[in-house]
Amino acid sequence: MAPFRGLFLLTYFWLRQWVHTAALAAYEFSRNGLILTCLLWLGASGCASNPYTARSQLLIIPESYEIQMGEQAYAHVLEDPKITISTDPREVEPVQRVAKRIIAAAKVSKYAERAKKFAWEVTVIKDDKTKNAWALPGGKIAVYTGIFPVAKNEAGLAAVLGHEVVHALARHGAERMSQGLVAQFGLQAASILLSTGGGLGPQMNRVVMQALGLGAQVGILLPFSRSHESEADYVGLLLAAQAGYDPREAIRLWQRMAAASEGQPPEFLSTHPSHETRIQNLQRWMPEALAIYNRVEHAPVADLPTVTPSPSQEHPSPPSESH
Ligand SMILES: [Zn+2]
Repeated sequence: MAPFRGLFLLTYFWLRQWVHTAALAAYEFSRNGLILTCLLWLGASGCASNPYTARSQLLIIPESYEIQMGEQAYAHVLEDPKITISTDPREVEPVQRVAKRIIAAAKVSKYAERAKKFAWEVTVIKDDKTKNAWALPGGKIAVYTGIFPVAKNEAGLAAVLGHEVVHALARHGAERMSQGLVAQFGLQAASILLSTGGGLGPQMNRVVMQALGLGAQVGILLPFSRSHESEADYVGLLLAAQAGYDPREAIRLWQRMAAASEGQPPEFLSTHPSHETRIQNLQRWMPEALAIYNRVEHAPVADLPTVTPSPSQEHPSPPSESH
């Protein structure tokens, strides 16, 4: 049977080669190549679609790998000597409280399976100048105290965390890693790199950190795409409502964010939806979110503590805002 086996393997490898080459060509030469690439990658678990929006996603990164990257990135940030972790209960407790309810909501969402698998952890970073929060694959969350004046109260913070947690649950990081690897190495090389599963070279590491929204750590800010932002806004709104927070606070949050981000360099916001578009979309989704909010037990909502940005805390490159 050996010759048959040889022939079979040869055919198999030839077919695989062909599929890879065709997929690469489709991706590189066609703006709508994603669908074709998806078709070619069927069976190689290269594609998925978002359970809320049905948007198709190119995902060549195994979930376990993505979670491992999330955990490494989280450790990397927390080990940074420039970072101060808050232990002030006035700052930590409201964040823990809101995160707990958002995580519970995620566990009954369409992402329930993944949310239950994540080893959730929340850290408050004492940095009154950085208006930021992020959630990484695997469920590691960080909130910078600088976001408190923008979030204003626990419902505002719920809108922020709802949004961030969706980036992690919807595998936006893995999608960006896939896109980044394909763009940098081509589909075939990227798949070989992944299949060797080996040590991350500095170049790979860069792609991964950027994909996770921690681009500033490697010197390049890479905002999430508009479709990721819009997906995080929509599903995040539903999660916050499910967690018992008034979803209408999300609109006030983005209004405060718009006011606070005046004077930001335009390139930072260039791929973000404009604040007006964002607010219009939120208003469009509001009836659905309010219907959820009206049938759940409402969360207590207290104001967040006031923080005062002090010039001594200024550092040259704040972590990239992932909203
Ligand atoms: Zn975002």
